[in-house]
Amino acid sequence: MVKIPDTMFKYCPNCGKHVTMKVKQEKSARRGGGLSAMARREKRSRRGYGNQGRFSKRPVTQTKMASKTSKKVDLRLTCPDCSKKWVLSYPRAKRVEMIKK
Ligand SMILES: [Zn+2]
Repeated sequence: MVKIPDTMFKYCPNCGKHVTMKVKQEKSARRGGGLSAMARREKRSRRGYGNQGRFSKRPVTQTKMASKTSKKVDLRLTCPDCSKKWVLSYPRAKRVEMIKK
């Protein structure tokens, strides 16, 4: 478990000085309704009869390939002066806990 403070004293490139920024953990974005280009091609290939080429086999799933058990932490820092957001990537961690300072 990694404990991350909810405020950090960091440099803001826009203001050109160090300020205490609010820290927020970014959650992975959910995919919108549309299909990707490859998924559209697979859908077209799957209708009708016959060989489906490279789509005849199921793709190798993420669970088969996965060797890492943790995820990298993405943090969003918000500057209180210019309200710009900056990304801070944190090392790998299984669980993240925000602590109040
Ligand atoms: Zn700023």
